[in-house]
Amino acid sequence: MKYSILTRSFMLLTALLLACTVSARKPIKTLIVTGQNNHNWKVSHLVIKDILENSGLFTVDWVVSPEKGQDMSGFIIDFTPYELVVVDYNGDSWPQETMSRFEAFAGKGGGIVIYHAADNSFPDWVEYNKICALGGWEGRDEKAGPYAYWYEGELRKDVSPGRGGSHGSQHEYMMIARENEHPVVNGLPNRWAHAKDELYDRMRGPANIGSLLYTAYSDTATGGSGREEPLIFTVEYGKARIFHTMLGHCGPSYENNVAMQCTGFQVTLLRGAEWAATGKVSQKVPPDFPTSTYITYRYDYKESTKEK
Ligand code: ZN
Repeated sequence: MKYSILTRSFMLLTALLLACTVSARKPIKTLIVTGQNNHNWKVSHLVIKDILENSGLFTVDWVVSPEKGQDMSGFIIDFTPYELVVVDYNGDSWPQETMSRFEAFAGKGGGIVIYHAADNSFPDWVEYNKICALGGWEGRDEKAGPYAYWYEGELRKDVSPGRGGSHGSQHEYMMIARENEHPVVNGLPNRWAHAKDELYDRMRGPANIGSLLYTAYSDTATGGSGREEPLIFTVEYGKARIFHTMLGHCGPSYENNVAMQCTGFQVTLLRGAEWAATGKVSQKVPPDFPTSTYITYRYDYKESTKEK
């Protein structure tokens, strides 16, 4: 069959347009909530913003709360324009209106990322603790829910009494996958070495973990629990898609920040954030992903475009 040049040009154009429609997605509209933390939130929220935006998949806004102890009544957040909310906040209670709006955002199937010490926040807010599944510090004990840890091939929930939340000295440690099929981890190595970071242990809460993605062994030699601690997981909470990462203790500055500069931290955050927002992960496994023997870093919070 012969086509005129005009027809062939038209067919080519149609094919190109179709390809663009399939591959191009508008960036995921993201909001970071920050402004109070027992951590260096002034650095961490900018780092998270850069990690997300440098991937080309997200556009990021952020809101900064009043300082600790100040009047919070005006801290009213509109979550409705966003597909994804990243919580980088550990501090004073939000006003009831903002709490209700956050619950409504989750209830309507919003995407949420709980990052590091965000799971310390709001010990008395029942729904928030369900959104985190596990939390620590701030007076948490057996009333918060069971401990949860990997034991004999399954997630064990342990109601024994005791404080919730601690960590030993910062060190490098091995992340071990407990699930291979979930879009966040699919294709990533089963074991990868994580940069020097805190290793949260003895966390407790409603323990409504959806998919337990990674654990790490908390060695008593480093002041840990002697247990395989759940560090990266999804949370089962109605229609919401929630990704919880306990990694990424923020360092003293943007440049001196190894836990957040770890490629494994960044890639799992990017994949978890995309999944939370869309239910899918379109990202390929990058060539610089760490292995079980090599920690790798993205010091400028983006994938290197240099030839490997
Ligand atoms: Zn920390």
